[in-house]
Amino acid sequence: MTLFAATTNQGKLREFALAAGDGIEIIPVSPPSPVDETGDTFEENARLKAAAYSQLVEGWLFAEDSGLEVMALGGAPGVHSARFAGPIATDSQNNGKLVGALLDQPDRRARYVCVIALARVGEVVATFRGEVEGEIIDKGRGQGGFGYDPHFFYPPFEATFAEVPAERKFLISHRRRALDQMFAWLRQA
Ligand code: IMP
Repeated sequence: MTLFAATTNQGKLREFALAAGDGIEIIPVSPPSPVDETGDTFEENARLKAAAYSQLVEGWLFAEDSGLEVMALGGAPGVHSARFAGPIATDSQNNGKLVGALLDQPDRRARYVCVIALARVGEVVATFRGEVEGEIIDKGRGQGGFGYDPHFFYPPFEATFAEVPAERKFLISHRRRALDQMFAWLRQA
């Protein structure tokens, strides 16, 4: 089976290939112009991207949107995760803002969320949501991962997502959980 993916991000494509396993080929698609992520939810943004990109190809295409939700911040940064500290914020600026917002806050619960939308010729046919729960720590730990990973402590690993090899994170990540649901759905379609 061939599946198109609405991303050219090499890290994500590697994760997709790992989750797909043998027998599913994933082909990256880049649009002539970027699709604006104007939705208020991960699902809306994933749907927007899947509907737009799937008009460019023949066959199944999926798009994903993901981010971090912090309970004590009412779910922020949420869909604004990539630009929490401003439109061109770096990971380190976003992490600085996150830690600052949680000063003196004992409730450290957070979760990564990923929503995948699966579409065919402009029509979204299903969405899949994956989550993984952790805690935000003040001092970043580890060199791996990206984004908020140095501050995202995952109790079952007793480590942050930046301290474990990518393959280990990806066994239980929000993205993996959403992908696994999509592949199960496709196997039954
Ligand atoms: P996007 O889905 O590439 O737009 O990612 C949204 C943002 O959410 C990223 O820029 C990161 O800040 C954050 N994010 C999503 N998934 C992860 C993850 O697995 N680790 C760390 N940060 C993540």
